[in-house]
Amino acid sequence: MKSLWNAAEAAKLKGDLLRLRVYTSQLLGREADLVLHGGGNTSVKISERNLFGEEEELLYVKGSGWDLATIQREGFAPVRMKVLLQMARLNQLSDGDMVKHQRAAMADPYAPTPSVEAILHAIIPFRFVDHTHADAVVTISNTPDGDRMIEEIYGDEVLLVPYVMPGFILSRKVFELTEKLDWKKLKGIILLHHGVFTFHHEAKESYEQMIALVNKAEQYLRKKGATIVIRKLRSQPDLLKLSRLRKAVSMNMGNAALAVLNDSGAAISFSALENVSSITSRGPITPDHIIRTKRTAMVVGDDPEKSVTRFATDYEKYFSRHTNGILTMLDPAPRWAVLKGQGVVAFGKNLTDVKIVADITGHTMKAIQQAEKLGGWQALSQKNLFEMEYWELEQAKLKKSSSPKIFQGKVALVTGAASGIGKACALALAKEGAVVAALDINPEVKKMSEESGMVGIVCDVTQEKMLTKAVEQTIRQFGGLDLLVSNAGIFSPSAAIGELDDKTWEKSLSLNLNSHRQLIKVCLPYLEYGINPSIVIIGSKNVPAPGPGAAAYSVAKAGLTQLARVAALELGKKGIRVNVVHPNAVFDTGVWTDQVLRNRAAQYGITVEEYKSNNVLQTEVTSKDVAVVVVQLLSDRFSKTTGAQIPVDGGNDRVI
Ligand SMILES: [Zn+2]
Repeated sequence: MKSLWNAAEAAKLKGDLLRLRVYTSQLLGREADLVLHGGGNTSVKISERNLFGEEEELLYVKGSGWDLATIQREGFAPVRMKVLLQMARLNQLSDGDMVKHQRAAMADPYAPTPSVEAILHAIIPFRFVDHTHADAVVTISNTPDGDRMIEEIYGDEVLLVPYVMPGFILSRKVFELTEKLDWKKLKGIILLHHGVFTFHHEAKESYEQMIALVNKAEQYLRKKGATIVIRKLRSQPDLLKLSRLRKAVSMNMGNAALAVLNDSGAAISFSALENVSSITSRGPITPDHIIRTKRTAMVVGDDPEKSVTRFATDYEKYFSRHTNGILTMLDPAPRWAVLKGQGVVAFGKNLTDVKIVADITGHTMKAIQQAEKLGGWQALSQKNLFEMEYWELEQAKLKKSSSPKIFQGKVALVTGAASGIGKACALALAKEGAVVAALDINPEVKKMSEESGMVGIVCDVTQEKMLTKAVEQTIRQFGGLDLLVSNAGIFSPSAAIGELDDKTWEKSLSLNLNSHRQLIKVCLPYLEYGINPSIVIIGSKNVPAPGPGAAAYSVAKAGLTQLARVAALELGKKGIRVNVVHPNAVFDTGVWTDQVLRNRAAQYGITVEEYKSNNVLQTEVTSKDVAVVVVQLLSDRFSKTTGAQIPVDGGNDRVI
């Protein structure tokens, strides 16, 4: 590990202690081997004049909910040092009271809640304090001979602190251990099974001391041959098994979950290790990971449902062994699983959560294998880990999200998603929390961004191979499929039957009818393991009320509607609902070019404007209006409806 300190950048910040603090915090945050997703914390002590003109020493400490990689000035909470030092001298303090009184001692009531390590930062008599959960150091610590090896590496230059719960107990412990200590002789503190503290009056030195200490641990691992060679491996994941696994996990979690497969070379070789069941049953790298990953991983056997049930039963036993009788058990579902020889799977209720789990497990796999080479992976005791998992201050971190969206954890696939109704449906589904595979023949679809929960896949749905590949990519990426909007379509040029050429006829049948049958067929095995699976097919007003000159379109859409009705009959017993929406005159779609619009209006002998709101309600129908109905039909609000055909046409006197 190298120092990322940049003298030119730092020179611009000179004199502004808080900006320097932000700068080196972000440097720490850049190294995933030091801190991951909210792990670690930093502080700076600054004297400020208060409202009454008195000098007051404040500890600007990382606020809870902020990440070192992205922290800004407002991410630091200013807490009065005097109060923190007084708190350190208390013999006892509950963590709830600690948080309350720290908040009460803030110079700015609008700042975030200070880190649970604020007291510990306060008692370290240096201006800058850096704290990380460095992989290398914790890995060595998590072995049977770890304490001795840490001593061998660092000698007297660090203070070793045996594991205790973070929060007040840890602060109190460090306070006791350092009361009569000459701080100047120390380069840092190593908290066994937890992490590293460094400190200095200068930001650069405190940061670089951290890098130096971690470097020593990394060198030691190399010297002992505890390094991992990552091979380039590929696997052919069993996607149906993945869907079954996702469903079983979702059922045990109590909500739909995404299942993201990591089939990198590192993950595949880890999953193929002979002792993978044993090494993944011992615990996480640091106890704060437990709220994200649970204590152990699940190794998936031949029958994924059975594996999940076994995991859940074991979790219930673990809970009853350690509960004090007052706690409520969390859901017993695993957060990561090993698919032997195929990689590892991370579970989470949305993309953010699942990414956190995937990142943590990536580091966990490496740490476990390194520790195995160093004498054996040994995490903290079940009791210690349980205390952390059920610690109110840790659980509070998970409760921040607002009320769940209706499609949270659900996977949707929409065809014809680059424009018009398809795009409106994809956007509406993503807005309601679904991850969406957006398929379209138009490369524009690639612009659908993953950040908004969408992935654009270029696909000609009339090509069976391409379609199959796109569906498989969706399963690979999210673990399953729940919602399908079969929308891709084309409005054929107006032509009376006598003038209608074969090509136009074939093209309409191919896209407006055949491709939908193929799509349903390819998706079906996965939808069977979907969470409340539901299909909506975009039909047309032309089905109940065809127009002259539109034989190719009307016939294909009528066939499609009949296909949907049969599908509703066939799939009902599998719990899959199939409904049809019949839009009419939705002009903000790819289908309606100006030319088509003029021709259709001419067919009825009216102007384009009259044609646009030529319905009972005399209103214009937009793609969004259709998407609203599609989303509702897909949702559980319509859980008792299948085989229905709903017009979204402003009312049509020929249909009514
Ligand atoms: Zn920590």
